[in-house]
Amino acid sequence: MSENPSASAVSQAQGANSWENLTKRPKRGVPAGLWLRCPGCGATVFRKDVEKLLGVCPECDYHWYVSARERIRQLLDEGTFEEWFADLEPCDPIEFVDKMPYRERLRREQERTGLRDAAVVGTGMIRARRVAIGVTDSAFMMGSMGSVVGEKLTRLIERAQEEQLPLIIVSGSGGGARMQEGVFSLMQMAKVSAALARFDAAGGLYISVLTNPTMGGVAASFASLGDVVIAEPKALIGFAGPRTIMATIRIELPKGFQTSEFLLEHGFIDRIVRRPELKSELARIIDYCGK
Ligand SMILES: [Zn+2]
Repeated sequence: MSENPSASAVSQAQGANSWENLTKRPKRGVPAGLWLRCPGCGATVFRKDVEKLLGVCPECDYHWYVSARERIRQLLDEGTFEEWFADLEPCDPIEFVDKMPYRERLRREQERTGLRDAAVVGTGMIRARRVAIGVTDSAFMMGSMGSVVGEKLTRLIERAQEEQLPLIIVSGSGGGARMQEGVFSLMQMAKVSAALARFDAAGGLYISVLTNPTMGGVAASFASLGDVVIAEPKALIGFAGPRTIMATIRIELPKGFQTSEFLLEHGFIDRIVRRPELKSELARIIDYCGK
């Protein structure tokens, strides 16, 4: 076990693994094989050990990508998830074309990820506490917020308010607002934020969980508005990317800028929670807040 297997042994072992079927994401997440090379520390680690930790490196605590469905499976009590608003389908309001028409891009992303758009929302139980939960998946157009993501989250928040449920949104969004939908995408930031303000005024509890990456218009709206804001270790969290900021303000950025640890130190988030402890921690916060 302590010997590093050869690269061919790693590739030979590919195939029979359930994780890959769950994430449906060959280029991201935990790759196939009996052994894995950790992108965080470079160590070769036993796949089963990583799976036991819900996709976390046993050596250095690196957190692999997990899909929205897998995240829900990890957080909710088995068999309790009921999806809401699953029939919402993206359209192409400004007939956008970049390298390919937006419609075509959507079709490909849907086929590749098995999702209709980048958010999955619904209800379920966390250690027998009913919650409203939403997850954005960075595999679908970088988890960017288009009209469907905005609408699903808004309806989730409104329903959480109606049914007086604690609300949890797990963000995995590198893309921010979805430029392919122009202003229809930008207005989602205001729409979701307004729904959260009403939810707050009605006394609701909102826990925001930031995962790698949470950037742009997502970080600048619902992801930052939690009553309690939790982040996974070493996640990239920010608004504009470091290069853009450096080019704009022309000063050297501090070390570790835009990581969970830096943001905790500067009071932007409340705590860092490792993935294996996340479910228990969420249950504890709900209890503390008396919800
Ligand atoms: Zn590692």
